[in-house]
Amino acid sequence: MEAADRVVQELEGLLPGRVTRDVKKYLSDWWPLLWIDEGAGGTAAAAVRPANSDELAALVRFADAEGVSLFVHAGGSSVTGASIPSGGVVVDMSGLDQILDLDEANRTVTVQAGVRLSALERKLNAKGFTLSQFPQSFELATIGGFVSTLGTGQYSTLYGGIEDAVLRLEVVLPSGEAVWTRKREAPRSSAGPDLAGLFLGAEGAFGIVEAAELKIRKQPTHVWKAAYRFGSFESAINASKSLLELDVRPAVCRAYNEVESLFQFEERACTLLLVYHFRSKPVLEAVRAEVSALLGQDGTALDPSMVDRWLEKRFNFKEQIDSVRKMGYTLETIEVACMWSRVFETYSDAAGTLSEVKGVAGVGAHVSHLYDQGACVYFTLLLEPRKETYWAAWEKMAKVARAHDATISHHHGVGILKKIYAKDEMPVSLLRSIKEAIDPKGTMSPDRLI
Ligand SMILES: Cc1cc2nc3c(=O)[nH]c(=O)nc-3n(C[C@H](O)[C@H](O)[C@H](O)COP(=O)(O)OP(=O)(O)OC[C@H]3O[C@@H](n4cnc5c(N)ncnc54)[C@H](O)[C@@H]3O)c2cc1C
Repeated sequence: MEAADRVVQELEGLLPGRVTRDVKKYLSDWWPLLWIDEGAGGTAAAAVRPANSDELAALVRFADAEGVSLFVHAGGSSVTGASIPSGGVVVDMSGLDQILDLDEANRTVTVQAGVRLSALERKLNAKGFTLSQFPQSFELATIGGFVSTLGTGQYSTLYGGIEDAVLRLEVVLPSGEAVWTRKREAPRSSAGPDLAGLFLGAEGAFGIVEAAELKIRKQPTHVWKAAYRFGSFESAINASKSLLELDVRPAVCRAYNEVESLFQFEERACTLLLVYHFRSKPVLEAVRAEVSALLGQDGTALDPSMVDRWLEKRFNFKEQIDSVRKMGYTLETIEVACMWSRVFETYSDAAGTLSEVKGVAGVGAHVSHLYDQGACVYFTLLLEPRKETYWAAWEKMAKVARAHDATISHHHGVGILKKIYAKDEMPVSLLRSIKEAIDPKGTMSPDRLI
């Protein structure tokens, strides 16, 4: 009997009914390379779907004792190949999908890691609360996956990313021991370093996030939507930045370049979409007046129903991908973030360089997430479906990002795709020391991240 066979048999004995050898659905995710390179998929001997924390701990202890590699697959919505296993055993988190506690008085919710963002948000909305994290993959992504890739949503300009929502995490370490990153509940604590940070963006390399205690807030009662046309992408970006100087920030602030304005809205100029959230009508009216006056200086107001169209379609990515693939092309998205002083020149440099890559048929872009210090420019590339074109585009983008001191991974994580590029952005030797201390046998997501 082969070693892999023996391991699977033992797992079947340890966790009866939770193990499958039919691993096909775990061997891919939403990494666009998989559509053009069949060799990019993964391998695994089996997948295990624990139904509770005891089963998860038993699986991890077994892997530790036997030296078996574990790869976590949650919503499988990674676009970087992060949830594709490279051998070993897959941990399917979908059985750990319970909302454990909704504490309305203290504005927190405690959930198992496998709960999907959409399922959690619906439960919260039913009680008048929100987590305010709306990635385009809202229906697919889980809390554990979002934490482990440092995800962020379309409303981040007001509410921040998942790092702003996490109070503490419960993690199963590679030894099988489960620990909370803080032992006590508190709104903030300086009792030592905030160890939740070690698992935010760790992509399973330091342990498995089993549960999370998250901050929630009351849902907005009033929403104001607006759309504007600008003569250039630069003026739309500058207008977006100026909105951050006002007392109230937009929840959504998206400035689109000419290519993406045409594709998304059939508009032949650059567009800016805004959504503001309020819990007071007089504040809404005051902000509407101030924002309209400010944007009216360089922009022209458009029909706000454009924003409704975007809101209706924003999670329909499958339709968009299918229509592009029917045209004989494929898509790739690249999220580059940098400081304000370099946002426009990074965009121009990237758009120019990418357009010159043989096989790149279009470069759409929008500023998707805004901060006091800078912004994320989200590029959507229309590509001929060839591996050479795909990798040439990434090589060029990595070079532009390096030249402008920009990050090549604002929110999609590292995965397999960006391992060679993101290593320049991380203190690899420190991460390796931590990895060796926490996971001396290297069983958790080996060869990933570091
Ligand atoms: C169409 C589309 C749009 C997207 N839009 C956005 C967006 O707007 N914003 C955004 O941030 N991302 C976006 N993404 C990317 C993706 O949804 C996120 O990376 C998401 O956080 C992945 O969550 P998941 O549950 O699907 O995790 P998976 O894809 O299953 O896993 C992702 C990584 O996290 C690890 N992991 C998962 N769960 C755990 C756990 N419990 N403990 C330890 N490690 C774990 C996996 O091993 C893997 O390395 C998009 C993806 C798609 C397909």
